[in-house]
Amino acid sequence: MLIDFFKRSFESAKEQENVYRKCKRCGAVVSVEAVREHYYACPSCGGYIRIHAYRRIHMLADAGSFEEWDQEMEAVNPLEFPGYERKIWESREKSKLNEAVVTGRMTLDGIDCAIGVCDARYMMSSMGHNMGEKIARMAERAAAEQLPVILFACSGGARMQEGIISLMQMTKTAQAFACLKKSGQLFVSVLTDPTMGGVTASFAMLGDIILAEPGALIGFTGARVIQQTIGGKLPEGFQRAEFQMEHGFVDAIVERKNMKETLSRILRLHVTGAAELSSGILTSEESERLECREEAQAVSDQGASTGLNRFFEVGQGKKDRKRPSAWETVKLSRAKDRAHALDYIHALFPDFFELHGDRCFGDDRAVVGGIASFRGIPVTVIGIQKGRDFNDNKLRNFGMPNPEGYRKARRLAKQAERFGRPVICLVDTPGAYCGVGAEERGQGEAIAGNLQAFSDLKVPILSIVIGEGASGGALGLATADEVWMMEHAVYSILSPEGFAAILYRDAKQCEPAAEAMKLTSVDLLRLGIIDKVIPEEEPVTAEGIEAVVSRLEPELLEFIESYSALSPEQLCAKRYARFRKF
Ligand SMILES: [Zn+2]
Repeated sequence: MLIDFFKRSFESAKEQENVYRKCKRCGAVVSVEAVREHYYACPSCGGYIRIHAYRRIHMLADAGSFEEWDQEMEAVNPLEFPGYERKIWESREKSKLNEAVVTGRMTLDGIDCAIGVCDARYMMSSMGHNMGEKIARMAERAAAEQLPVILFACSGGARMQEGIISLMQMTKTAQAFACLKKSGQLFVSVLTDPTMGGVTASFAMLGDIILAEPGALIGFTGARVIQQTIGGKLPEGFQRAEFQMEHGFVDAIVERKNMKETLSRILRLHVTGAAELSSGILTSEESERLECREEAQAVSDQGASTGLNRFFEVGQGKKDRKRPSAWETVKLSRAKDRAHALDYIHALFPDFFELHGDRCFGDDRAVVGGIASFRGIPVTVIGIQKGRDFNDNKLRNFGMPNPEGYRKARRLAKQAERFGRPVICLVDTPGAYCGVGAEERGQGEAIAGNLQAFSDLKVPILSIVIGEGASGGALGLATADEVWMMEHAVYSILSPEGFAAILYRDAKQCEPAAEAMKLTSVDLLRLGIIDKVIPEEEPVTAEGIEAVVSRLEPELLEFIESYSALSPEQLCAKRYARFRKF
């Protein structure tokens, strides 16, 4: 089989030598050599050119590591459809493929995985019995052999000549991937141009992580049919990868030239024991941050000032530091230059890989979430993000999540549970967004669902209030084993302005309201609402974050180590009791 693969690669390479092609998008005449150098994109317009399945594998697999599965499979004609055999024969000749998908196993940067690649050269990569069979066998075998699966989807839809048998492939493949899920293995689905119909409505959309190539057409019903049905014009970019990401169905759009590195990163964050991230796979920016952090760590180790909790608990303060009033603390927690969730994330987790979307309606940019490693331990990080300037704030909705944001958080938390990763939440919100749309899409249900899901999550959860923590909007990410607060953060039932308006019928009475609400870290530690205060020598800013982060790191490591030692039952029982006592 291996020899076959190389023979094919060699033959197709030989054929393509000194060949020029015309780009279908821009019309430029380009050499195949140049196209290859550009990761199979047109050197003139950047448009992607379809890659042969074996070529795609060649671009990802470690040299010589690919071993094909089920290469020979006898063609079937279940409905005895006239002319179908001939069509199959022609497709095989033309595409140099036996079916519309190639499957097998390989190593990618040394990590074992199963790989499947659909190829539109073969009957528009429509899903018939053999394609469904090869994909189902791959998922089942990967489950049995404990391999993660990477599957490049591409399809025009169902194989019409196989009728109802084609339709059955949807459930067949979907349930095979349920097997993989039960086996604890990762499924990365990569959507390429075009992924339509029954493939979209089955395995392609079932990835734990769903990546897409830029501009790829992804949808269930074809645009022409929709247009005929509604009789109107479709929005610009309809059903493109970018559209799907905005609507919550794609985790990340990845360019071809970054595909191997991205897949390698994702696999590494899921392979037990392989999470030791070498600096080799970090970008230069990430390495710089890492160095910065190490320097700050060295400085902080000399001062060793993580004991401020003990300091708060016994009611002693540093003599030369005057504690701000409650209202002053509120203002500090909202300060323009205060460090936001992404500042912490980048400083604490240099290899953070952001995932997007709730798989339901949208991608709420007020909530950021993704996977990362912390001292070699895979973690899931979720934070509520405020903007730095007006435009950024518009994008982040001023740190006020919509239901999609809470649902994204829940999705990522459940995913963390599946792979045994601790969850770290960073809370900074003036509250959940109030608006008509948010109500229509169930803001209350979204938050309630999180309280229940996080209560029962079988992995450790830590929540840190880094700025404002107001209302159920904060609690939606603060149902955790431990809740910590930055010294100058606040955590309360609502804003002091809102509290004053309700209780004193005067929104200007913020100062007494803030005082009465017991919203500072010191007050909340005394009340047992939170478990730890992270001291801020100076109010923490984005620029000054390294000092705080270096103080946070050993605490974080201790948290992860001690809570990871508990069984899922112990964890949940402890968390239940933590909130039951109030
Ligand atoms: Zn072009």
